[in-house]
Amino acid sequence: MSTSKVIGVDVGGTKILAGVIDPEGKVLERVLIPSPTDSTEALLDGLDQAVTKLLSPEIEAIGFGIPSSIDQRSGMVLGTVNLPLQGLCFRQRMRDRFELPVGIDNDANVAAIAEWKAGVARGANDLVMITLGTGVGGGLILGGKPYRGSVGAGAELGHMVIRQDGVPCYGNCPGHGHLEALASGHAATLAAREQFGPEVDARELVKRGEAGDEAALALLHKIGESLGAAFGSLVNIFNPELIVVGGGFAAAGELILAPARERMALESLPNMAELTRVVVAELGPDAGMIGAGFVAYETLENAAATL
Ligand SMILES: [Zn+2]
Repeated sequence: MSTSKVIGVDVGGTKILAGVIDPEGKVLERVLIPSPTDSTEALLDGLDQAVTKLLSPEIEAIGFGIPSSIDQRSGMVLGTVNLPLQGLCFRQRMRDRFELPVGIDNDANVAAIAEWKAGVARGANDLVMITLGTGVGGGLILGGKPYRGSVGAGAELGHMVIRQDGVPCYGNCPGHGHLEALASGHAATLAAREQFGPEVDARELVKRGEAGDEAALALLHKIGESLGAAFGSLVNIFNPELIVVGGGFAAAGELILAPARERMALESLPNMAELTRVVVAELGPDAGMIGAGFVAYETLENAAATL
C-alpha cells in the first residue's frame, strides 16, 4: 500500500478548506479557515497558514482548486471574480514558498476530478460536471482524463449560450443568456426575489418548492429547463456516460433535474439522451479539497514521467 500523502486546498470565496489526502482520495486531516479577501497578501497569508498547519515531511505535493480561469503554461490566474488573485503567478508563488511540487486547477475542474476518482462517477471514462453555486462551473473528463483546453482555461460550461441576446451574464463575463445567468444559485435568488420579494433567496425558493408552492415550483421548473437545454448540447457534443450536478444549488434535486432531463431529451439527437445519466454529486463540500489533492498527485505523476 502506498504511504504517499499530499495536501489539497479548496480556495473558496468565503472559506479555505485544506486537507491531507491519500491516493484514494481519503481525507486524513483537515483545516477550515475564512478566506481573507481584503488583499492578495492577506489571502496568500491565509493559504500559507492553512497549508503550514498540515505540512509534514510525508507531504509530497500540494494542489490548489481556485475559482478562476488558469493558464497552465505559466501557472497564472487569468480571471477571477471573488478573489484578489488575477494576474498572479500562483503556482510559482506556492512552489517558492513550500519548495514542493504544486498543481493548480479551476475549482469546477477539481470537483469533476474528485467525483471521477472518488465519487459518484468512479469508473466512468467520459463525464461532464456542472457545479451550481453562485455561478455555474464546468469540468470535463474525456477519454479517461481531464480535458482543460489549449492552455487550461477551458471547460467553462457555465458560459455556454442558452439564449442568444438573453440577460447579461455575471461577474466579468461579457456574454448574454449564458447558463450561469439562467440556472445558477444567484440566478435563482434573483428570480425568487422578483417573484416573492427581497427576503426569498435560492435556498428559500427550494424550501417553498419542496412544500408544494406552485409559483416556486414553476420557477424551479424554468431553471431546470435552461439546465436541460445545456445538457442536451453537452449530450450531443460529448456523448458522456454521466452528467454530474454538484454545488450548493444542486440541493434543489429533482425539482430542477426532472425538467432538465425532459428538456435534455428534447434537445438531444435520436437515441442519444438515454446514453447519459444525470446524477447528483456525492462528495458535497469536500469535492474541491479532494480534487485538489488529486491534482497534486497528477503533478507528481507528470514530474515522474518527465524524469
Ligand atoms: Zn457568462
